[in-house]
Amino acid sequence: MTRAGKRPPLPSLPQELRSVPLRTIAPVAMLALLFFTVWLLLDDRLAAAALSAALTVLALLATVLIHRHRPHLQTGGVLLCLANIGGCLLAAWLFGRDALPWTYLALMSNFFIVRNGIATPLNLLLAAGLLLMPSLLLGPARLQALVVITLVFGFGYHFSRRLQGDRTRLEQLATLDALTGLPNRRALEKALQQQTNGLREARFRQGLVVLDIDHFKDVNDRYGHAAGDTALSDLAAILRFELRENDQVFRFGGEEFVVLADVGSREALACFTERLRKAVYQALRGPGGRITISLGAAMYAGEERWQDWFARADAALYAAKGQGRNSEVVAE
Ligand code: GH3
Ligand code: MG
Ligand code: MG
Repeated sequence: MTRAGKRPPLPSLPQELRSVPLRTIAPVAMLALLFFTVWLLLDDRLAAAALSAALTVLALLATVLIHRHRPHLQTGGVLLCLANIGGCLLAAWLFGRDALPWTYLALMSNFFIVRNGIATPLNLLLAAGLLLMPSLLLGPARLQALVVITLVFGFGYHFSRRLQGDRTRLEQLATLDALTGLPNRRALEKALQQQTNGLREARFRQGLVVLDIDHFKDVNDRYGHAAGDTALSDLAAILRFELRENDQVFRFGGEEFVVLADVGSREALACFTERLRKAVYQALRGPGGRITISLGAAMYAGEERWQDWFARADAALYAAKGQGRNSEVVAE
């Protein structure tokens, strides 16, 4: 087992993946609108230039929101879509069908800027605006543009939906342990972070249990790594079985697991920890017989950093190991 306080921190997960296309599209859209404004000014279309300048400011605001240290992707994305839509409608109003290629571009990119639930009504708004313009899309000779707009809309929606599904699966995989199927250390850190930021009343009800298999190296050395892996999977199944609906169990790494449980009091945490140890003592067997665990536990005690709470449970685990193993200690 690792001594308390010696665990290296994990690098945090990269920003939400959507920020990658956004960070590129936002400044490009802003520059396109800026050029459009200058061009309108040079062409002496002052009212249109003023409108385009307002849209440029909107895109600039979106760019700032997206590039901030803590980006506001949702708000920034919506503003950027609105700037795109405004620019397309203005261009279509001024230049008619010659400006339609911008619409195709905006329709497609909006699906990648915000999620489908937001992009769809915004793109419908753009389509409705175009339909309202006399002789732009309606009429037999205009059918081509209408068909292309419908196809771009459909493809954009479909591709973005697939991408969204892949992203969700990737994020799930990044937080699951492959051997046991339990949430991994990354998921634990996120859960602990959420706990320490959560409601005060709920926070002080939480107990944190760090548990570690006793003499696990011997299991591997004597019976092979595969036997060790089986023991880890079996332990995960036992822990899952023992937990109540609102409790969570994580594989922290190696042969260490962490349980986050809504117990209410230190006494209840002591009972819970003992119950876990006994359950594992009764049920966990390797090729060489019983496999036991030691547990350290700590109630949340107002720590601002989850690492400090974790360190208290970890120190208790170290004390439990010192008691001769197959035992538990609850921090004061
Ligand atoms: P202690 O009672 O002090 O905890 O002793 P220990 O032998 O359990 O602790 P130690 O840290 O010395 O050994 C942990 C072992 O866990 C060493 C490593 O090979 C094994 N281990 C870690 N991860 C895995 C895994 O995914 N599969 C298998 N089979 N073994 C693992
Ligand atoms: Mg260990
Ligand atoms: Mg161990």
